[in-house]
Amino acid sequence: MKAAGPIPPDYQWRDGELMIGGRTAAAWIDAAGDTPLFVYDLNIVRDRIARFRAAFSGVSLHYAVKANPHPPLIKAIAPLVDGIDVASAGEAQRALDAGMDARRISFAGPGKRDRELAMAIEAGITLNLESGNEADRALAIGRGIGRTPRLALRINPDFELKGSGMKMGGGAKPFGVDADQAAAIIARIVAAGAEYRGLHIFAGSQALDPAALIEAQASAVALAARLSEEAGVAPPHVNLGGGFGIPHFANDLALDEVAVGAALADTLASRPAILRDAEFTIELGRWLVGEAGVYLTRIVDRKASHGEIFLVVDGGLHHQLAASGNFGTVVRRNYPISLTKLPGSGMVEDVSVVGCLCTPIDRLGDHVGLPRAEVGDVVALFLAGAYGASASPQAFLGHPAPGELTIDGTDIL
Ligand SMILES: *Cc1c(COP(=O)(O)O)cnc(C)c1O
Repeated sequence: MKAAGPIPPDYQWRDGELMIGGRTAAAWIDAAGDTPLFVYDLNIVRDRIARFRAAFSGVSLHYAVKANPHPPLIKAIAPLVDGIDVASAGEAQRALDAGMDARRISFAGPGKRDRELAMAIEAGITLNLESGNEADRALAIGRGIGRTPRLALRINPDFELKGSGMKMGGGAKPFGVDADQAAAIIARIVAAGAEYRGLHIFAGSQALDPAALIEAQASAVALAARLSEEAGVAPPHVNLGGGFGIPHFANDLALDEVAVGAALADTLASRPAILRDAEFTIELGRWLVGEAGVYLTRIVDRKASHGEIFLVVDGGLHHQLAASGNFGTVVRRNYPISLTKLPGSGMVEDVSVVGCLCTPIDRLGDHVGLPRAEVGDVVALFLAGAYGASASPQAFLGHPAPGELTIDGTDIL
């Protein structure tokens, strides 16, 4: 038997049944009509936002929408955060549709097409520029349509977020411009008459170690000051990135966000003068929504092969790629997993939960310990609120899209 990650403490069982928000998992499946089903519990997202506010007073919070772009969820989150970060014109449109003020939307990401730049400039969205070439294209498009573009510069930092699952800074990277190119581009943006919005410094994702985040944030503030001094321009806004992780695997510990917030407050209290009037932002995806989601999938077959028991479910990696270990992880480990109905006895058996795709990588639980399960029982995979439905190859094998419900207590949003 192999260990699985910790089930988030937000979930309760009532009479042996998994509760999500104010109803049983079974009740949500009835409401949706079928499995596989993602359920996103807004109350858990609200709790995370409240925790952020308590730990990071005076720092703005942006939602990185690529973690979960389900429209009802974005709409529910939009009034609770200070901005939304998007990575395509499609995401930008969803943020606008959710009612977010265009001036509070920023658009980062490599490979922005001319029509995406034009859409953002037209709407008044801030572009986090990824290169000098992109800066020139944005300036030309702004002139062409008679609009003043709102432009920030994304920096490829000269440090990395230590221990992070996905490194997005340090060394050669397709993201942002190298620090030594930044001052010249800032000067060009300002000279061209664009509205200069400041700097974006994102060093990585999925960090659980507060010391690593504290160091990265201090380095980001120092780098923002140094580049601003070089360019001779005070940035109205500094996006410090995010990278807050959640515990996915056995022995992972939740991030101590209070420690990170306290250290950042110290860093900002003694910041260089050129950053005095800047607004500081942290952009978070998975930490806000990851633990709020559960993926529910029904067992359609139970079989034994060479002594191993397989529970074959109606979902799979086409909906929950990350749980199969094929989205940004090197070694496959088990996400938290359970049955939605627990029998009275505590007996568990060693089973592998596999998806319905005809590929050996479609494994959602590898030798996990579950109570004896039969065909028709439902498996819950936790941490399905981020990088689930939208980050999985849904077209692979032609199965239908999963259901998605955003819930608030006993209501569907
Ligand atoms: C993906 C991404 C995020 C969100 O990362 P999480 O790990 O989900 O918090 C934030 N900022 C940028 C620039 C990103 O690319």
